[in-house]
Order: sequence, then C-alpha cells, then structure tokens
Amino acid sequence: SSNPLKRKLPLDNNNNNVPSDSGVKVVVRMRPLFRDKEEGDCIVHKTSSDSLTINGHDFTFDSVADTNATQLDIFELVGVPLVENCLAGFNSSVFAYGQTGSGKTYTMWGPANALSENNLTNDQQGLAPRVFERLFARIDEEQTKHSDKQLKYQCHCSFLEIYNEQITDLLDPNQRNLQIREDVKAGVYVENLTEEHVYSMKDVFRLLIKGLSNRRVGATSINSDSSRSHTVFTCVVESCCKSTSDGISRFKTSNINLVDLAGSERQKLTGAAGERLKEAGNINRSLSQLGNLINILAEVSQTGKQRHIPYRDSRLTFLLQESLGGNAKLAMVCAISPALSCRSETFSTLRFAQRAKAIKNKAIVNEV
Ligand code: ADP
Repeated sequence: SSNPLKRKLPLDNNNNNVPSDSGVKVVVRMRPLFRDKEEGDCIVHKTSSDSLTINGHDFTFDSVADTNATQLDIFELVGVPLVENCLAGFNSSVFAYGQTGSGKTYTMWGPANALSENNLTNDQQGLAPRVFERLFARIDEEQTKHSDKQLKYQCHCSFLEIYNEQITDLLDPNQRNLQIREDVKAGVYVENLTEEHVYSMKDVFRLLIKGLSNRRVGATSINSDSSRSHTVFTCVVESCCKSTSDGISRFKTSNINLVDLAGSERQKLTGAAGERLKEAGNINRSLSQLGNLINILAEVSQTGKQRHIPYRDSRLTFLLQESLGGNAKLAMVCAISPALSCRSETFSTLRFAQRAKAIKNKAIVNEV
C-alpha cells in the first residue's frame, strides 16, 4: 500500500479511443424462463435493441439482451469498451445487479455449476474471463506498437467479499474484517489485502476460481449467504512509458473492477430478532447505499447542483468511490427474470436501471 504507483494519477481526458459519452452504460439482460420450475409465460419482451415491455410498461436503456444474446454479445457490449477505457487510463467498472437467480453470476463469470467444477466451455465464459483474455492481448499489442517508448504494463489483482459490512480477502480467507484506508498518496485501499501479479489470462482465472471457492457459501445455493454478499474483483493496470521527446518515464494507473452485487430482493425479516435483525439490516446496507448514491448522482447530473456525496456510508461505496462518479467509466448489467412470480422484483430492478441511466459522469467531476 506504500507503493507510489498506486497513487491515482490525473486521468487522461484527451484520449480519442474513448467514447465521448460519459454516462453510465446500462444493459438489461433477461435470462430464460425455467419452464420446469416457473409457471406461466414470459411477462418481459424485448421490443427493440434497446427497449423492452413488461405488463404494458415500456423501458429504454442502452441495450436490452434477451435469451438470444450470447456471452460473446454481452462481452462486446460491455467488456470491450471496459478494456479500452482501462487502457486509456480510466478506472472502469462493471456492476452486476439483480435479484438472486436472475443471472448475475452467469453474466459475470459463467454458469455456477461449470465454474465450481472449473470446466467452463468457451461459449459459457462470462464477462470476467473474456475481459482478461482481451486485456492481455491488447497489452501485448500496445507494447509492440510502442516499443520505441519502452511501454510496459504490469497488472495485479485482488478479490474480496463484503458480507454484513465486513471485508474478507477471498485470496486468503483467513484475513477477515479488513479495513479500508485512505491517504493522499495511495488513495483508497484495503489494508493487508492480498495482491497477486498476473501475466496472463490463465493467472487471472486461477485467482478467480480460488476466490470463488472461498466465498461464504457456494454460489449455486439459492438464498444462501452468498446471495447476500458482494464480491469485488479488481485488476490494477499500471503502465510506464518513456517519452521520445524528453526521455522522461511516465506512469499511468487504472483499475478494472468487476462487482457481483448481492441479490437485490428485499430481505425477509420475519422472525429475525437481536443480532440476526441487526445483521439483516447490515447485509444490504452496501446495496441500498449504492442505490442512494445512484439517486444522488443522477439528481446532481440532472439539476447540476453541487451536493455532498456520502461515499463513506457503506463499505462498498467507500471502497469504490474512485470508480463511482468523476471520470470513471461505469457499466451496469441489470439481470432480470421473465417469470410472473418475479414481477415486482423485476420492476424494482428496471427502476434502479433507469435511475443509473440518468447519471452523467461529466457533471460530477471534482465532486469526490
Ligand atoms: P444470480 O447470480 O443472479 O443469483 P445465476 O447467475 O446463478 O443467478 O443464474 C441463475 C440460474 O439461471 C443459473 O442456473 C444460470 O445458469 C441460469 N442462467 C442465468 N442467465 C442465463 C442465460 N442468459 N442463459 C441461460 N441460463 C441462464
């Protein structure tokens, strides 16, 4: 954490590779109906590449993916720009939001059963494996292209879980209850969190599998603790480039954050008392605080009014404050089920997605 490279350097705003829209990119992805388990027909229908309808209500986002969309399609929508933004020096994050069982894990990593057996087929690979495959291919390309400037990249990764407002290191699960620190030099960081250097997609995948197996409860069991925890996989990408004019080496650092959020469904508090009740309140604090922040950031973008942004009110938003707002690039994949029984949670996810869409990051530069 005393590593000077970790300091957040001024971001490079003049890079032409980066799309000019600075808002949050919101993609809604609908999973198939499980005909053996779910009654009735689909109540959600895609109406165009960016719109859907549910019970007579129409919604528009940046993109709508129905069951025809492949993992590769989602990667092209969300993953490719993520890698380019990161290489251009922007902190770049993808959040998977939605109720338990809506497809967050599937989208972020791949189908849980194949993941836990570590035998994902190529087609099944979710965003994370594809993002890192692309990242290392692009790094090779850039290093070759700019060999005159001795351009070199270095990446290291960490993987953590936030459960009940406590941070656990998924790469070393003996490290529990880690604390977030902030200082001028290092920015915001988690004290004592394991960071591993990675040189290839294989290295990253090994960490992903190791970390996922250290989650509180296997990702497959629905309504288990795992559906109430957030995971944050971070890859810090550092580059060093020697100027051909003045010979001075310049460093650039940016993060990729892949955030698999806790299930967004309302927690049932029936019968909970004492510690259990407190825990139930805490469990979704990070998620509800993310929702609050989204509302505030959207309001600031719409009204242009300055406002205090309470990043510190939860672990997740404190940890990711440098990736929420400002010049950071943010994409949300909001996962929904088409089943009638999920209707009210689906509406709630779509409303969340709509508020996220209203954020324009440019409007809040220097607000942090
Ligand atoms: P979550 O992480 O939101 O709790 P999962 O990703 O585990 O949900 O998805 C629930 C189930 O639905 C899993 O069996 C998963 O494989 C399946 N599933 C999710 N999305 C899709 C999809 N787009 N196509 C096929 N199956 C899917």
